[in-house]
Amino acid sequence: MIIPAAGLGTRMASAPGSKAKKPAATKQFTELGGTPILIHTLRKFVADPEVSEIYIALRANEIDGFLARLQKEAKDILQKQIHLVEGGDHRQHSVRNAIRSVSASDDDIVLVHDAVRPFVTEDIIHDVIQAAQKHGAAIAALPAVDTVKQVERTSDGALITATLPRERVVLAQTPQGFRYDVLKKAFDEATTDGFVGTDEASLVERSGHAVAVVMGSPRNIKITTPADMELAEFYLKK
Ligand code: C5P
Repeated sequence: MIIPAAGLGTRMASAPGSKAKKPAATKQFTELGGTPILIHTLRKFVADPEVSEIYIALRANEIDGFLARLQKEAKDILQKQIHLVEGGDHRQHSVRNAIRSVSASDDDIVLVHDAVRPFVTEDIIHDVIQAAQKHGAAIAALPAVDTVKQVERTSDGALITATLPRERVVLAQTPQGFRYDVLKKAFDEATTDGFVGTDEASLVERSGHAVAVVMGSPRNIKITTPADMELAEFYLKK
């Protein structure tokens, strides 16, 4: 499986004028209960018997420090085969670099999971793997509870151009799981066409392969903003 963890986390930066002395850590290294979010996330997959190896894409200057940190504070993670690879400028480039390092057979399932979703469960991981084995591609997602509007951004703010039928909308989460050949083909095509997407499924969809959806969880949040950290601390205590 692949964990992209090379984001800059600009949306997590301390508010302008805040008195924070240290530069904000990138969000995957922000500590939750004294442990970096990335390590919480890794523990979920290390504990999962269905996961055999983990490729983590990191910023080049964070690779050595992270390995040292695992050896010192989180040896348990190293029970699994861990590979640290260099990330890229976009999430997609980080995942692409990892795919290039993976050696797999065509029908192996490759999972991709955001470093900043530490509340994923074994059930969700299992359901995604099972659906990916059946359909070749599957993601965890949540039904939309809010009404979803399509907008056009203007200099005067956003204007609604359409209301999307809510029952036809789901909100994509991770893990996203794919047969290796399906994922590889989708990434090769996106690279050739210069297409950049915000998740792996979007690349697989455009390559013409159907992607199944399994139920994610409202707790499987992507920690993105300081408000998400408050929620994450609450979930961690439970
Ligand atoms: O920034 P975004 O919400 O897309 O981040 C989702 C995940 O992708 C995070 O785990 C982040 O570390 C990762 N990412 C990456 N390389 C980038 C940008 C984001 O690995 N260049």
